[in-house]
Amino acid sequence: MIEYQDARALVLSAAKALAAESVPLAHAQGRTLARDVRAREDIPPFSKAAMDGYAVRAADTRLPGPDVSGAVELEVLGDLPAGRMPRTAIGPGQAVRIMTGAPLPKAADAVVMVEDTEASGRTVKVRREVRPGENIGLAGEDLKKNEIALERGTLIGPAETGMLAAAGLARVPVTRRPKLAVIATGDEIVEPNERKRPGQIRNANGPALMALAVEAGAAPLYLGIARDRTASLAGKLARAKASDILVLSGGVSVGDYDLVKDELETAGVRPVFWKVRIKPGKPVFFGVRGRQLVFGLPGNPTSAMVTFLLFVRPAVENMLGRKGPGPAAGRAVLAADIAVKPGRTQFLRGAITENGPVLKVAPYDDQRSGVLRSMVRSRVLIVVPADVRHVEAGREVEIIFMDGW
Ligand code: AMP
Ligand code: MG
Repeated sequence: MIEYQDARALVLSAAKALAAESVPLAHAQGRTLARDVRAREDIPPFSKAAMDGYAVRAADTRLPGPDVSGAVELEVLGDLPAGRMPRTAIGPGQAVRIMTGAPLPKAADAVVMVEDTEASGRTVKVRREVRPGENIGLAGEDLKKNEIALERGTLIGPAETGMLAAAGLARVPVTRRPKLAVIATGDEIVEPNERKRPGQIRNANGPALMALAVEAGAAPLYLGIARDRTASLAGKLARAKASDILVLSGGVSVGDYDLVKDELETAGVRPVFWKVRIKPGKPVFFGVRGRQLVFGLPGNPTSAMVTFLLFVRPAVENMLGRKGPGPAAGRAVLAADIAVKPGRTQFLRGAITENGPVLKVAPYDDQRSGVLRSMVRSRVLIVVPADVRHVEAGREVEIIFMDGW
């Protein structure tokens, strides 16, 4: 039996980043950048008006005296809408009527908001003095030419998509999604749409693991339920050959019908570890077959999900080339006492009870690994080190966000 951190390190070192592919910008959401993206030009490419008003030389707007009702009068050379280049520079005592987003004419260094002016014919009265730089956006203020806009390994979300668009990328280099095959095992398991006979239960793990795979950024492939028989398992294993990751649930304990481990070895999977000093999820198996990573997760739904988050998700993130593979950890203050049996690192399902300046968490009151409701009601795992028996309310604990926040 090995420790959680050692097991995690073994998984991470076996999970290598996959090759890059190019996708249209519209399909980049949720993908991971495969290389650094630099700005090919200044963004924005020119200095521009940040307000509707008048482009001026700031010095021309200095009011003659302390009289607040005073104004200076400037000659208006013309109109400048967004998308048009200014034709002439402005001279002393001159202004151009300018719209938000239009390039600043030469010699102009500020914009007077239209609200501070009064137009009459070819002149405008400016009632408020502006400082140089006021109400303008400078060329390159977002990004300078050649500056790194986004680093490789970045998860692409809406803001990153906007940045890629601003940098002019119609296609985006992303890492290939790892193909992740899911097999549920068990003679007693039936699919939600199948007829259930006495003694059988619904397949919760298959769909839950598929959903976890999607959430992690993998491309999942569902291979159905294998029966607790050699031929049934071998058939499914053969169909999983082309996937980067294979995840099975059930059949990895020490019962008479727990065939998964032996069957995986027969199929050419080299075992890396079996059994980790954790709760839930102790019987978890990890092995490799060529470049394929194979995880045998325990059958209890909570154990299957927690071990996916602890081991499979980081492997997916490593294959995606994500910076700092998860799980996303943090700290929170306990809202209720915890008492556990020491000996294994425990991952208690917990809810965030206070989301203010200090995060407070409370463990769900039923931590048995067959109780899937604890996962539904929880957002975090509270990490209790192996040598700890009791943690009092008010103490700080390490938490892991199950939704990867
Ligand atoms: P096992 O690890 O195969 O011994 O299974 C442990 C427990 O989890 C048993 O009570 C199984 O019935 C249950 N179980 C196994 N696979 C699933 C599944 N796919 N969905 C729901 N429960 C399962
Ligand atoms: Mg079983």
